[in-house]
Amino acid sequence: MILAHLYPEYLNIYADRGNLAVLTGRARRRGIDVDVREIGLGDATPADADLFYIGGGQDREQALIAPDLASRGPLLAEAVAAGAVVLAVCGGYQLLGRYYRDRTGTEQHGAGVFPLHTVAGDVRLIGDVLIECELDPGERWAVAGFENHAGRTILETGAIPLGRVVAGLGNDGQSGLEGCRLGNAIGTYLHGPLLPRNPQVADWLLARAVEHRTGERPVFAPLPDELEREAHAVSSARARSRGGRR
Ligand code: GLN
Repeated sequence: MILAHLYPEYLNIYADRGNLAVLTGRARRRGIDVDVREIGLGDATPADADLFYIGGGQDREQALIAPDLASRGPLLAEAVAAGAVVLAVCGGYQLLGRYYRDRTGTEQHGAGVFPLHTVAGDVRLIGDVLIECELDPGERWAVAGFENHAGRTILETGAIPLGRVVAGLGNDGQSGLEGCRLGNAIGTYLHGPLLPRNPQVADWLLARAVEHRTGERPVFAPLPDELEREAHAVSSARARSRGGRR
């Protein structure tokens, strides 16, 4: 399985690298070999990657990579249409949309994979978050994480949110929606990192990445996720104590 990690030097705040450790760790515990390719400015995009990962970053770092990422837009959109998996967190999520207008008012062009745009507000949206999402019909999951963003993301026509906000602020602090989903591509504001406290999301991503490579979707045997469940419980309780929209 090929995992392409976009801009690890620039987009890696709030321990987002931890998501990679979970993906590679859970894959290897199922006997799946993961070839991690670090993709920096000007590097070729591995068109045959099964999973693309991009983390979060401050406005300054986003501005440094935005033109390079935008140039990969058509290829990434094609890969997603062909079933490739994407996990994009916060700043990376914003730049997979059409644009991010940052706090200076500068419009950073995005890759245009997700039908959305983002505009920075004056007050940052910070704290623990709990969302309800349904990645597979009929399977509802409570997904917990931490948000810290100035951006308010507006989903455009045809966009599907990743989930509904149960506690916290989400895309814009108003709509009650969080993230965006397009096929096997997921964008979210949930840091933390996300995957250590939501192992079912990690397994969902991995199964589809394996399916992209082999044509068959594996059914993984459950792993003993006691620590993960505990982390989820703590994070969910903190989010619930925070309450909802402003
Ligand atoms: N710089 C962006 C914002 O403030 C993204 C922040 C992040 O990745 N945590 O909204």
